Amino acid sequence: MRPNLLNPLFAALTSLSGVGPKLERLYRRLLDNEAPRIVDLLFHLPSGTVDRRARPKLNEVVPGTLVTVAVTVDQHRPSPPHRARAPYRVYAHDDTGDITLTFFNARKDYLEKLLPEGELRYVSGTAELYDGMLQMVHPDRVVDEAGFATLPLVEPVYPLTEGLALSNVRRAMESALGKLPDLPEWQDDAWLARERFPAFAEALKSLHRPAEPRDVLPDTLAWARLAFDELLAGQLALALVRAHMRRQAGRGSASEGLLRTRIVDALPYSLTPSQQRALGDIITDLALPQRMLRLLQGDVGSGKTVVALLAAATVIEAGRQAALMAPTELLARQHHNTIAPLAQAAGLHVAILTGRERGRERGDILARLAIGDIDLVVGTHALFQDEVAFKDLALAIVDEQHRFGVHQRLALTQKGDAVDVLVLTATPIPRTLVLTYFGDMDISELREKPAGRQPIDTRTIPLSRLDEVEAAVGRALDEGQRAYWVCPLVEDSEKIDLAAAEARFAELKERFGATVDLVHGRMKGPEKDRAMSRFAAGETRLLVATTVIEVGVDVPEATVMVVEHAERFGLAQLHQLRGRIGRGSARSTCLLLYKAPLGETAKARLAILRETEDGFRIAEEDLRLRGEGDLLGTRQSGLPGFRIARIELHGKYLSAARDDAALVMSRDPGLTTPRGAALRHLLYLFEKDEAIRLIRAG
Ligand code: ADP
Ligand code: MG
Repeated sequence: MRPNLLNPLFAALTSLSGVGPKLERLYRRLLDNEAPRIVDLLFHLPSGTVDRRARPKLNEVVPGTLVTVAVTVDQHRPSPPHRARAPYRVYAHDDTGDITLTFFNARKDYLEKLLPEGELRYVSGTAELYDGMLQMVHPDRVVDEAGFATLPLVEPVYPLTEGLALSNVRRAMESALGKLPDLPEWQDDAWLARERFPAFAEALKSLHRPAEPRDVLPDTLAWARLAFDELLAGQLALALVRAHMRRQAGRGSASEGLLRTRIVDALPYSLTPSQQRALGDIITDLALPQRMLRLLQGDVGSGKTVVALLAAATVIEAGRQAALMAPTELLARQHHNTIAPLAQAAGLHVAILTGRERGRERGDILARLAIGDIDLVVGTHALFQDEVAFKDLALAIVDEQHRFGVHQRLALTQKGDAVDVLVLTATPIPRTLVLTYFGDMDISELREKPAGRQPIDTRTIPLSRLDEVEAAVGRALDEGQRAYWVCPLVEDSEKIDLAAAEARFAELKERFGATVDLVHGRMKGPEKDRAMSRFAAGETRLLVATTVIEVGVDVPEATVMVVEHAERFGLAQLHQLRGRIGRGSARSTCLLLYKAPLGETAKARLAILRETEDGFRIAEEDLRLRGEGDLLGTRQSGLPGFRIARIELHGKYLSAARDDAALVMSRDPGLTTPRGAALRHLLYLFEKDEAIRLIRAG
C-alpha cells in the first residue's frame, strides 16, 4: 500500500483547479503518461527561465532585450474606427524618455483599466525600436505598485507541447507545489550534509520557483538531489529484485546436450567463438541450483537468437519449458520464423502467442502450455497475461531492446518456479550504463559478427542530392538487389510522419513501379507482416518504411539502406537501422541523407557511423557526444528511462547510489527501520513500487 502521505501527489492532475479534461489531454502528451498525476507534473523540470530583472530607465533600454520599466501612462490612442487591424497604442514616459505600448486586437475598456492615464505602471516585455521610437508590443506583464511587489522577476520556462500555454503550466505547477506534503527524509543524513543537498521538497521548490536563472540548471544541487533520489530508487529496486531472486533457490536444469547438438547440426553455419562462449556461460548457469540472471549483449546481427534457442533447448531437455518474449509483434513473428524450422529439426514443440492469436487457436495454445505440450513459446507481452500458465517454466528469455523494464521481466518470472532469466539486448550499452538498467547481472557479449559478412559502405549525402540517390537505388534494383528506404519520425506528429512516408512511397512507386512497397506503424499486424514477407520473398524489392523496421527485421538479401533525415535519428537508432543490411554475403551500402547545414554534434555523429560498425564503440561515442546527442534512441537529453538524472552530470552519483542501496539491503532488507520506511516513499515516488511487493513476497 502506498503511504497515505503520498496521496496528494498521486491525485490526478485534473484535481488541480484550472486543469480540466481538455487540458488533461495536452498534459498527457506533455508528460508522456496516460493518466498524469501531480507528481508527474512536479517532475517536469524547467528548461530555462525568463529573466525580467533588468530595470533600466527608458534611455538605458537596450532594444531587443527583456526589461521591466516603471512608466507613467500618458495617453491612449485606440485603433481608428473601421481599421480594426491597426494597433491600439498607449503612450507612456519616465523622467528619461518615452515609450509606446502597442496592442493588436485590443479591447479598449480592458486596456483603460490596465493602463489608466496619469498613473504609474510597471511594464515588462521585450522593448524594440520602431521608427526610431522605443516600443513594446504586447507587454508580458503590466502591474501596479502592489502587483510589482509580488511579481516574480525570474520565471521558469518549461518544455511544452502544441496547444499548451506556458502560463497554464506555471499556474498548475504553483498549485502542485502547494500539495507537497512534509515527507520523511530518505537519504542518509551524513551523505546529504556532505553533498550539501537540499531536502526533496526544497529541491522541487527551488527548481520551480527560481530566484535566479541559474537556479533551474541541471547542475544545481537541487537538481542533483532529485537525480540522486531517482538513481537511488532505481538501484534499490534492482537490489530488491536481485535479493528476491536469490531467496528463491534456483533449480538446476542439467542436460547432456542432445537437443542442442541436433539444433547445431541443423544450422547451415557454425557458431562463432563468442556465441560458443556465451552459450557455455548460459549452460553453466542453468545447471547450477541458483537462478540465472544474465544479459546477452550483442550487436544487431550478431546472432543472439540462435544462442537463445540453444539455451531454451537446454531446459527443454531437462523436461521443462522456455518462453521468449519480444517487444513487438513483428519481432516475435520473426523470432518464431527463425526458430521454428530449427526447433522442428530437433523435435521441439514451438508456438507463438501474441495479441493476434484469438479464439480457439488461443485456447488451444494456452491448454497445451498448461499441460507442457509446448516446449517453447515465443510471444509479446501477451505472454504475461494472467490466463497464460505454464506446466513448468524454467527459462524466461526477454528480447528487450529497451522497451521492457524491470516490471515486465519480473512478470514473466512469476509464471514459474525459480525461473532463470536471460535478457537479450541489441543495443550495446556502455558498461557504466549496464549497471543502471540491469543492476548486478552477469554479462555475456557477442562482439564479433558471424563469418562471411562484408563491411557496409556508409555514406552521408545532403538531401539536395536526392535525385542521385534515387538513381543509385534504381541501379541497385536493376541488378536485382533489395533496398530499404526509411522515412523519419518527427516527435508529436505521427500524422505528418506518415504523410511524408506515403508521399515518398508514391513518388518512388511512380519511378520504379510495383516493386515498391510501404510499411508503417499505423498498419495492422497482419498487414505489416504481409508487407514484410513480400519483401523477404523478393516479391517487392524496395521497402519504404517508418522506423517499424528498426527492430530485428532480418532479410539477408537486402543490401541497400537509405535513411532520410538521418540527422533526426539517434546514433543508436541509425546503427540499428544499418544493421538491417550487411546480413548476407553481398556488399551493402548505407546512404544517410541529411538536411544541410548540419550542426557540429550532428556532423560528429554521422561521421562516427561512417567510421565504424562496432556497436559498442558507437554507444561509447554516443555517450561522449551527449548533451545534444541522444543515447539509445530516446529524444530527451536525460538518461533513457530516467526523468531527472542526466548521465553527463549525474552519472558520477551512480556508484554512490549503488553502494547506498547495497548498504540498505544488508542492514534493512525489509525496509522496516525509520529510514527504510522513508525509502518506501522514495520507491513509490519513482514508480518502483513493484519492488516493494517483492519484500513481502520474499
Ligand atoms: P541478432 O538477434 O543478434 O540481431 P540474429 O540472431 O537475428 O541476430 O542473427 C542474424 C543472422 O545471422 C540470422 O540470419 C542468423 O541466421 C545468422 N547467424 C547467426 N549466427 C550465425 C553464425 N554463427 N554464422 C553465420 N550466420 C549466423
Ligand atoms: Mg535477433
